[in-house]
Formats: sequence, structure tokens, C-alpha cells
Amino acid sequence: MDSVQSLPLSEIEKIQGDKLKHMLKLCQIGHKFYQRLWETKGHNIGEIKSVGDLESLPLTQKQDLMEAPNDFRLNLSSNYPLHERALWEVLYTTGSTADPVPIFNTTYDYHAYLYQSKAVAEISGINDSDIIANLFPLTPAPMGAFVRSAGNAYAVGAKIFAALSGGAFSPFDLQNSLDQVVSRVEKHRATVLWGVPSYIRRLLIRALELCVDLSSIRMCAITGEATSPALREDIRRCLRDMGVENPLIFNRYGSTELGAFAQCKEEWDWHNPTPDLQYHEIVDPITGRRLPDGERGSLAVTHLDRRGTVLIRFLVGDIVSLDRTPCPHCGRTSERIVGPVVRTKDLIKVKGMLINPDVLLEAIQSLKFIAEFQIVIQKENQKDALSMDEMLIRVELNSERDIDFSKRIKDQVNKAIHVTPRIEFVDRGEIYRVGEQTKAVRFIDKRVTSGGEVR
Ligand SMILES: [Zn+2]
Repeated sequence: MDSVQSLPLSEIEKIQGDKLKHMLKLCQIGHKFYQRLWETKGHNIGEIKSVGDLESLPLTQKQDLMEAPNDFRLNLSSNYPLHERALWEVLYTTGSTADPVPIFNTTYDYHAYLYQSKAVAEISGINDSDIIANLFPLTPAPMGAFVRSAGNAYAVGAKIFAALSGGAFSPFDLQNSLDQVVSRVEKHRATVLWGVPSYIRRLLIRALELCVDLSSIRMCAITGEATSPALREDIRRCLRDMGVENPLIFNRYGSTELGAFAQCKEEWDWHNPTPDLQYHEIVDPITGRRLPDGERGSLAVTHLDRRGTVLIRFLVGDIVSLDRTPCPHCGRTSERIVGPVVRTKDLIKVKGMLINPDVLLEAIQSLKFIAEFQIVIQKENQKDALSMDEMLIRVELNSERDIDFSKRIKDQVNKAIHVTPRIEFVDRGEIYRVGEQTKAVRFIDKRVTSGGEVR
């Protein structure tokens, strides 16, 4: 299992090259989108012999997948084994504006995901004595994070249970309140909390209020929204207050299309757990040219061994860099994704300046007196579309309001992004209704059409 991640780079690339040739051949036989694309652009797939040659193929945009998700699904004849053709599950990627996009997984892909989960668990230290609490909510379309949590437990023989949190949308009355979830985590003596960080933080704060003993927790595996070091530290603080001596935060990076990456050490880079399943490049998103290791650019993924939805040089939408030197902590040789991860779709323009919301979030999350917050970008005069942009920060406080708070928030934000916000203090529970919302909505851009939520 561990072997591919620890082979010399040249041997990893040899395996990747062989898998790639087979993957491209399958696409030539049964992948509508690439058949059409390569034919129109005159690409001879037989000439691609290695991952190095991959650079000559065009990039795939997220938009291509969104427009025709069925064209990305391999269609193989009955000469191929059943497990390479049978549809095991359909997961949906979460799009912020459009409808979520289906990603098709055959039995073969499900097995590959178990294989990957096993590698992720080994890297991050999850084992067969763990009891995992799946805290992801039930969603209208099957979401990878919820569905795949079980596979992550199965792969290492750990126990798992689901909290079934979130707001109700079907008539079957399944969802549990926050207090019910706290009591379930206590009852099962969960060791790993698996969920969205803002929900995990709320759960821990509530457990502290109720004086419930959750000291069995040793790790929080977080994913699904951006977090700052300050927020992660606040989660650790809650756990320490409960008597957990050395709480770990395993910050998961990945997506339904990408699969999962793993940190071998807290706050460190993300390892590709299965270089025999996926290949990564950092590219110039316009020309498709590959950028050297260490240089920041757009992450493109190529599936090397899939049978359902297959993506070749797919632009994930994140700006990162790659490091292919052996990991100084665990010695693994497969490449590492180096942060900070900047989601290109999340960069927003305020008063003509491009700002990175993560920098803003971090600045606000570092202020201890803030319990919850929401950033609203709108027009100063909402009836006048041509008026100046305004940044409004709505704040719920942890404590009694201090005369000085407003100024401290303004100063902190201005220092981080050079925009001075307007501050509005609101009552507890106005920003994040736990139980009704999957996660707190941190960003609202009212300048675009209604529903223009960024994160
Ligand atoms: Zn490592």
C-alpha cells in the first residue's frame, strides 16, 4: 500500500505513464467529450507515451463538465468486466450557483476510492480503533463528503456513525438537533469528528456549555469550507478545555472530482496518497503550459485509472504549487500540494481591488471577541447600481459589547485588505442558525443577481 508513495520519482512516473496510456485508450474507445475534442483539434493519442507528453493535450474547463456531465462518462462495451461498467454510485459536486454536477463511479472506482482512503488513513494516522462521527448533513443531492465518510471507515476497519444534522427537506423527519448530536457523540465515545469546521466548532462550544464529556475525541477531520489557522486553533482550544491533551486537526483537501489528499503533519502540505490513480500539474490556465515545481499556478488533475467520469488535464479552480522533493517529515516521495489554496472563483473585487476572502476571514477570525460574522459586499446606495461598493461586516459577539470593538475590527480588516468596512452588531443566532444551516454563510455579494453567495 505504502509502496507507490515511496518509490523513486522516476519509477512513480513510469507507473503513471503506463496507466495513462491505457486511460487514454479507453477514452478513445468510449469517452464522448475527449473523442470529439481530440478529433477536432487533431491530436494523435498514440503519441502520448508518458506524463511528460500530456502537456500537448488541451486543458478541460469546469464549464465543459458542467455543460455535459454525461459526455464525461466512459461507455465501455460488454466485453469489459462487469465491475468496470456497473454504476456503483453517483455523487454530486457542490456548485455555488448552478445545479450540482453528477460524477459517475463504477464498482472499479469505488474500490479505487477505498484503496485511496486506506492510503489517506495511513498518512494521517486514522486506524481500526477509531470511532468516526460523520457530522456532514443530509443534502438534497448525494454529496461526496457525506457518502464517502463510510468508505473511509470501511477502508481501515474503523467504526462510524452519522449524526444526520442539517435542515429538513423531505417529509421523513430524520434530522437531529445540535443537542441530540452532542449526546450521540458522547454516547459512542467518538474519537474522530468528521465534518465542516464551523459546525464542529459549534458542536464543541455547545458541549462545553452543557458540561458534556467529549474527551474521547482525539482528532477533527475538517473539510468543506475555508478555515484560518486562528479558527483551527480555536477548535483545538475547545478540545483542550474538555480535557483532550493533544487534539489534532486533519485539514482535508480534495473534492468529488479530485479525491482526497492527506497531511502527514498538522498545518503541513497535502500528499497525493495515490500517484497511481491521479496525476497533477501546475499550469498556466490560458496556454496550458506546465509550470515548474515551486511556482504557483492553476492545479490540473488527470485521472489515470477510472471507469466512470474521467477527466484529463481538468482545471480544479485552485491556485497552489507542487513539491516533488521527498517529504521531510515522513519521507514519502509522491508529490505534495503546497498552499495556501486560493480558490480562483472566490477572488472578489471590492472598490476596484481584487481581494482574497481567505485573508479577510483570517483577519476577522483572529479577533477573540467575535463569535460569528458575515461579510456583505453591496452598493452604498442599494437603489443606485452605480454607487460605490461597501463592505458591511455583521458581527455576533462572544461577550458584552465594548465601545472599542468596532474600531478594532475596522483596523484589523484595513490592515489585511486595505478596505475599511462598516460594522453592524447583531443578536446571537442571527448569522448562523445551527440545525437549519449546513454551515455559516460568511460571504454575501449583493452586487450580483440575488443568491450570489460566494462561500
Ligand atoms: Zn509527509
